[in-house]
Amino acid sequence: MLNLVLFGPPGAGKGTQSEKLIEKYQLVHISTGDIFRAHIKNQTELGQQVSQIIAEGNLVPDSVTIAMLEEEIKKNESAKGFIFDGFPRTVAQAEALDNFLASIGQEISGVVALDVTEEELTERIAKRQQISGRADDAADKLQKRIEEYFSKTIHVLPYYEKQGKLDKVNGIGEIETIFKSLTTIIDQYK
Ligand code: ADP
Repeated sequence: MLNLVLFGPPGAGKGTQSEKLIEKYQLVHISTGDIFRAHIKNQTELGQQVSQIIAEGNLVPDSVTIAMLEEEIKKNESAKGFIFDGFPRTVAQAEALDNFLASIGQEISGVVALDVTEEELTERIAKRQQISGRADDAADKLQKRIEEYFSKTIHVLPYYEKQGKLDKVNGIGEIETIFKSLTTIIDQYK
């Protein structure tokens, strides 16, 4: 199995690149943000539980996120591999993912981090807000998300670096150029 983590701050382009990667490598895309938004839209119990947290730009508690992620993996037993997008966002989530994958005889193949400056991120999300209408793309909520990233999520990088599983890619430039850089690295994981 090819199990990838696509890592990066809000607005780094994880969603865009994931769409291209799943097609090329025939992987199942697990975007925790997308799954949460679907729950909110369908007004499930989980959706009601997390909607306020997400709208404010805060992270959903680890226990809730981890349980949801494990369910998604279990739903896709016959997958050739997964691309995790927006997960793990904390070290506790990274540990839980490692443990869960080990329990099914799998592991993370590699982690690719998209490198984008804070300035570029703010600019991109301001543009996206006009199209997406996502409440958490509004300036103050976005600021909160960037803070969550730099206070909690950034620590996931050394976690994988210690395992020798981290690669970085410049996330600024043409979508196709970034995709090429990603696939050059990912091809080495196989
Ligand atoms: P982004 O555009 O910031 O990458 P996502 O769509 O991945 O946004 O996530 C949107 C929101 O969903 C996050 O700000 C957070 O509230 C929640 N969320 C998504 N993934 C996680 C996670 N792994 N842990 C906790 N909260 C999460």
